[in-house]
Amino acid sequence: MRPRFHDYDGRLSIGLDIGGTKIAAGVVDAEGHVVERVPVVPSPADQAATLKAVSVLVEGLHSRHPGIAAVGVGAAGLVHWPEGRIRTAPNNAYRDVPLRHLLEESTGLPTVVDNDANAACWAEYRMGNSAAYMAFVTVGTGVGGGLVLADRLFRGRTGIAMEIGHMIVDPHGSERCGCGTIGCLEPLASGRALGRYGSAAAAAEPDGMLATLAGGPDRVTGETVSAAARAGDPAACAQLERLGHWLGIGAATLVNLFDIELVVIGGGVAEVGDLLLAPIRSSFSRFVTAAAHRELPDIEPARLGPEAGWIGAALLALDHHKEGHHKEGPAGGA
Ligand SMILES: [Zn+2]
Repeated sequence: MRPRFHDYDGRLSIGLDIGGTKIAAGVVDAEGHVVERVPVVPSPADQAATLKAVSVLVEGLHSRHPGIAAVGVGAAGLVHWPEGRIRTAPNNAYRDVPLRHLLEESTGLPTVVDNDANAACWAEYRMGNSAAYMAFVTVGTGVGGGLVLADRLFRGRTGIAMEIGHMIVDPHGSERCGCGTIGCLEPLASGRALGRYGSAAAAAEPDGMLATLAGGPDRVTGETVSAAARAGDPAACAQLERLGHWLGIGAATLVNLFDIELVVIGGGVAEVGDLLLAPIRSSFSRFVTAAAHRELPDIEPARLGPEAGWIGAALLALDHHKEGHHKEGPAGGA
């Protein structure tokens, strides 16, 4: 933990993680210790219901914890910083929602709304694998990330930097990304890609473990591949190697650009551990520039699990308002 956050003054913060399928929320103290977590609720299908669900969660937590000093939200999609306006979220119904403004109006509490991967990155920086210069790559249904430079989250001019899922790595490939472009990292390196690779491998080997576990080649998911790989199935391990190949290219590019000392790999797919990390490290050393002449950064698994999003959002809210970062540049600081 970094010295500048050692002012533990007993303040509490509400954190929310609004994902494509579920909303997680709870309360932490300034050290990130969980004071309360509420049961996860499914993300509603329309905007009004989503905003209602969010305000019910926040009001409930606020009423039970009078010491709440701030609210932080991590939301999937493109989130304008520092306004906390959600421009668009491919897997959610809402568009152009001024969420920060709405929550500050209804609660009277200082609020931050940031991208969910930034929030998870901040949780990892504060409480997990941490370095002053680090990148956080989350490999789940999609691929996202966050970047800490000189102990500050880097957000770019308007908050939408580090869309590493849309880093172009294979423009002559055949997989079209959800964003419409061919060549993005995400359709080659996500959990969904792992399922697609696994399906093809199962179709080529109908009596193999992948097809058997899934109940047919077209039912193979990323989870099936991870389970088969854990059981030692070579075909499944080969698919994780393909994923790791692309993620290693992504990690090498981040290191080449930003000279970071640590790359943390999180998200559900990364829970297979070395089965994914070993191929990432191997591809990384092949593609990072000047490997023989630099101290190579560590590529490590995330220490925080699926709760990183809401915990990180809650910490961001406390850190941001304590440090007065909102008085600085539009998209700088924590
Ligand atoms: Zn894309």
